[in-house]
Amino acid sequence: MRKVAISACLLGERCRYDGTDNRDRKLLGKLEGMELIPFCPEHHCFGTPRPTMDLVETEEGIKAISNVTGGDLSPCVRRYAREFFDAHPEVDLYIGKDRSPSCGVCSARLYDRSRTLADDEARGLMAEEAVRRGIESWDAESFLDAHPSPPILGS
Ligand code: SF4
Repeated sequence: MRKVAISACLLGERCRYDGTDNRDRKLLGKLEGMELIPFCPEHHCFGTPRPTMDLVETEEGIKAISNVTGGDLSPCVRRYAREFFDAHPEVDLYIGKDRSPSCGVCSARLYDRSRTLADDEARGLMAEEAVRRGIESWDAESFLDAHPSPPILGS
């Protein structure tokens, strides 16, 4: 059975910055029969609700920067990611919420230091760790596009 690390908000956990979720019934149907192991680095590190953050390219590399304080929020998120995958070495599939600076695989927005958009296909910090470990990794929307449901015969 496949072991899937998945953004908790996609399962319906209300852990988004504003206390809402991103429940995706189509995706959940597609993952039926697989073991789902949810994660939410931002809830773990900063609680819910919380201020938003952006990925910013700095001289020391890519960091997650708070949109309220301007502080570097990366260390906690990166530590959570390492500890999560260390605790779940059996994970062989990662599915992250599109466009999240933590969870997005090829869809996060990356800004330069003047806060101009530099890339909208960047990798979030949690996804970065999954890819670094060689885990098959997908944005949720791309996963659905790549695994379409078979047509219903006779309809
Ligand atoms: S950090 Fe990831 S799991 Fe948590 S709310 Fe954001 S997209 Fe969802």
